[in-house]
Amino acid sequence: MADALQNYIDGKWLDAADGGRFDVFDPSTGAVIATAPDSQPADVERAIDAARRTFDDGAWWPGTSERERGRILLRAADIVRREHERLSQMESLDSGKPIGEAREDISEVAFMFEYYGGWATKIHGDIPPVGPDAMSLVVKEPMGVAAAITPWNYPMMMAVQKVAPAIAAGCTLILKPAEQTPLTALEIPKILEEAGLPAGVLNVITGFGETAGAPLVASPKVDKVGFTGSKEIGKLIMRNGADTLKRVTLELGGKSPNIVFADADFDAAIEGSCNGIFWNQGEICSAGSRVLVQREIYDDALNAMVEHAKGVKLGAPGAEGTTMGPLVSKDQAERVERYIEIGSSEASMAVQGDRPTDPALAGGYFVPPTIFADVDNKARIAQEEIFGPVMSVIPFSTPEEALAMSNDNEYGLAAAVWTRDIKKAMNTARALRAGIVWINDTQTAPSETPWGGYKQSGIGRELGASGVEDYLEAKHIYVNLAE
Ligand code: ADP
Ligand code: MG
Repeated sequence: MADALQNYIDGKWLDAADGGRFDVFDPSTGAVIATAPDSQPADVERAIDAARRTFDDGAWWPGTSERERGRILLRAADIVRREHERLSQMESLDSGKPIGEAREDISEVAFMFEYYGGWATKIHGDIPPVGPDAMSLVVKEPMGVAAAITPWNYPMMMAVQKVAPAIAAGCTLILKPAEQTPLTALEIPKILEEAGLPAGVLNVITGFGETAGAPLVASPKVDKVGFTGSKEIGKLIMRNGADTLKRVTLELGGKSPNIVFADADFDAAIEGSCNGIFWNQGEICSAGSRVLVQREIYDDALNAMVEHAKGVKLGAPGAEGTTMGPLVSKDQAERVERYIEIGSSEASMAVQGDRPTDPALAGGYFVPPTIFADVDNKARIAQEEIFGPVMSVIPFSTPEEALAMSNDNEYGLAAAVWTRDIKKAMNTARALRAGIVWINDTQTAPSETPWGGYKQSGIGRELGASGVEDYLEAKHIYVNLAE
């Protein structure tokens, strides 16, 4: 019997008013593992009203001290650690990611609560000098009611990286997780309720983008939208939010270059380049999907990456030893397969791994790791985000050429540079138009550091100090002191 999940509104567990539900799938088998409320605009309105009332009545903010807000988040971190294995299993089951990767995600979720728990008592303004006859106080206040709209690739992390700073800042909020992966998002209110969060501060509703997401963006009662997802929906959110001049933080896609210079530590560069696109099935906005390799080592690097791809173990996400699970949904698997078809007409396929042979996984949404060689940077598989385990390998001769191709893309989320030459590494890093640049590393994203993109990869930065700043307004209070 599949679990019947419920919305969490004003501290109560509720079905959608019209009783509608949708199925949640195990992507490794296609089996239904739960059903969730198919929230409609009326349900969304109820959640918004709860968040609005809770913010406007003042008991939460400014009524609850910074110390108490901080303590709630610190307690939440401890609860996540206590529930670590259960949450990791749930995340792996729902999203299809290997259990080992899910465990790392949930550990970072615990740390995000801890990190922003520390921030709650350290948010403060400024007193700029304005002459002898006045005093100016710049105070930081919560933005008000925030909506968090999140994707399915890192379900709990993407939610908590919005929820935790919003609570530290004193906002109230409504979280709408991706319809593909609502399980761990609905654990967040349980954790925070146990940690002492008052009813109404965090409300969670499940449902689809047009019916449950769009009303959050359009509502005049919502002050801010924090969104992680596709570029197309990011643009729609900006347009739909314009009428109410919504504050938006958008973390969108990428087509991140991974540049391997001939003087790099070869083994580390190969391992990193492969992990950069095969980790989490390639369902990562910052995935190093374009691997640029200097010609001197091109053939050796390609061979080594092909060998690596052959060694990837596709299988049940919950099985120890699996290094790649299924994609999150049938739709996503079909989308990636379409790109593999496109790639086959644009470049040469160097390798495609095998599907799992276990008959229990026959209905799963598996797409094996795939590498295309000698890709032209203008090709669609080098320009468009695929969001799957598909690597495009592009040869280059000079650093200038690598840089020009790297920046020749509408995205600018992340980039990686592999070289032993520190000047080349730093000069390349500075010239890359990307929000995150890794040198001799890939995909590492400590929660203390800002995360977000240049160009069409988004607006604003989550995590780090900027993550909390994103939920604050500055109020200037001017005091006339003239006699
Ligand atoms: P993907 O295409 O990878 O599933 P999306 O950008 O479509 O990513 O989805 C990310 C999140 O945005 C999900 O929670 C989804 O339900 C939500 N969403 C989709 N369409 C809209 C919309 N029109 N307004 C608000 N949210 C939306
Ligand atoms: Mg699922």
